[in-house]
Amino acid sequence: MLDPFGREAKAIVREFGGIEPLLKRIAKYVGIESALRRVEVLDLEEIPEDILNMSDHDDIMTFYALLGALAFSPYGIEMELVRRSNVRIYMERIKRSGSASGLTIPLEPTKSSDIPGRDRAILEKTLHGEIGEEEREKHRLKYRIKLSSFLRLWEGSLKEVYVRKGYAYLTEEQALKLWEKAFERNLERSINLLYEIRDELPGYYGQLYERLSELARERFKERLGKFSGKAQPLRFELFPPCVKEALKGVPSGLRNYAITVLLTSFLSYARICPNPPKRDIRIKDCISDLGVIENEILPVIIEAGNRCKPPLFEDQPHEIKNIWYHLGFGLTDKPSLEDSGNSTWYFPPNCDKIRANAPQLCKPDRHCRSIKNPLTYYLRRLYIENRSKSPQNEEGGEENG
Ligand code: SF4
Repeated sequence: MLDPFGREAKAIVREFGGIEPLLKRIAKYVGIESALRRVEVLDLEEIPEDILNMSDHDDIMTFYALLGALAFSPYGIEMELVRRSNVRIYMERIKRSGSASGLTIPLEPTKSSDIPGRDRAILEKTLHGEIGEEEREKHRLKYRIKLSSFLRLWEGSLKEVYVRKGYAYLTEEQALKLWEKAFERNLERSINLLYEIRDELPGYYGQLYERLSELARERFKERLGKFSGKAQPLRFELFPPCVKEALKGVPSGLRNYAITVLLTSFLSYARICPNPPKRDIRIKDCISDLGVIENEILPVIIEAGNRCKPPLFEDQPHEIKNIWYHLGFGLTDKPSLEDSGNSTWYFPPNCDKIRANAPQLCKPDRHCRSIKNPLTYYLRRLYIENRSKSPQNEEGGEENG
């Protein structure tokens, strides 16, 4: 299998009746250690042959086992470990096969008539007798791809590629770089979908996640303090557009939804428990006093409420009780930590609910692609930022989403 999101992989997922039945089957048949062997390749000098030559079914099952585990913590160090190790496995297979058939990106082999001889001589250095075969191979424009498909994924400069008659021509290295970008996007898309159904997944995935997390903590120990997924001070500049809109204050018809429903849930989860292990978590499971709510969350909610027209809490002073209610403390304005659990701690509404209830708030930007909930938007931005700053960022540069 050259691409776990490609045509053949999709046919296998369909054979099982879709992603959910596949994940249930995996939980019965794939040992946790077999799935984890895939991520252990990251630190090996050579990828074991049995992993490279796995049957397509085993490959899909072990890979999707890891995706199921990531549903418990999207955009954390676990995802980074799964991403890097599997990019390594699939890239090695693609290189060995020398083919692009079945990949999610529509690459075609370049024909000799596609490129004028003069251009080829310059670009592929065909007249440089001093260059060895191996070196020459690196310059060969092996694949071409329609410019429209290419531009959807390429983040480098257009000067880096040869473009002719609506096609971009790529060396093997450039083609692999493009494939990697497509792989990342598909990985994110799948994890965002699975995040929605994580409560229905078999306990196997929670156990696999725990083990994956141990390996990731060991592998990225120097990054743990600042990595996304853990409680940390709020980063307002990385908030999703809908939350930024709510922070600015909104007109009267939108106030209760924007402030009490969206802002209260978003700020509290983002600050206290950005990656809740389950849906029915309580605030007292995550913090030991109310300081963080009183000092960091409530003032932001109240200021946003005051920016509404007319100001929310002047107009409806009882609404403060509703804020505590949405934080899970019941209808009160003087809660203690022990009251946490008297009502449900509301989770941020999904994007489709926001679009249905308050369409004026949803002004998607490029980071909203694949995102189904404002909280995962925030986790994604933290993840990308951390990745681009990391000394271990082998890819370098900022990801543009
Ligand atoms: S797509 Fe979602 S995260 Fe983005 S602005 Fe709309 S509601 Fe917010």
